[in-house]
Amino acid sequence: MDCIFCKIRKGEIPSEKVYEDDKMMIIKDIDPKAKKHYLCIPKNHFKLLSEMTEEDAAQLAHCFKTIPALADKLGLDGGYRLIINQGDNAGQSVFHLHIHILAGQKMEWNPA
Ligand code: 5GP
Ligand code: ZN
Repeated sequence: MDCIFCKIRKGEIPSEKVYEDDKMMIIKDIDPKAKKHYLCIPKNHFKLLSEMTEEDAAQLAHCFKTIPALADKLGLDGGYRLIINQGDNAGQSVFHLHIHILAGQKMEWNPA
């Protein structure tokens, strides 16, 4: 499968990995949109929330439990924003579901 995040998971493409366990990994985004910009990536390949299996959903739940537990390591003090782009209108460009973690600065609220 020609998926960048699956290739990163297998070590075929290098990345700056900051956390990994059996269900997920967190890497630094290659093109950061905030002072701190990580991608939390469940290990299972699926594109959309609407396509999730129960196992996919369990991995995603694990992501949401783990991100706040890593607040110190990731420097999330002061607050952070999580974004999941879904489909064309949202500008999803990698079709392996992932959670953007944005932090390290005050953020505007302007989805455009
Ligand atoms: P999306 O647009 O699908 O919500 O987010 C995809 C994100 O993946 C973008 O923020 C983009 O910068 C990031 N990205 C794309 N290719 C790579 C890569 O090879 N390595 C890393 N670390 N991030 C990537
Ligand atoms: Zn994938």
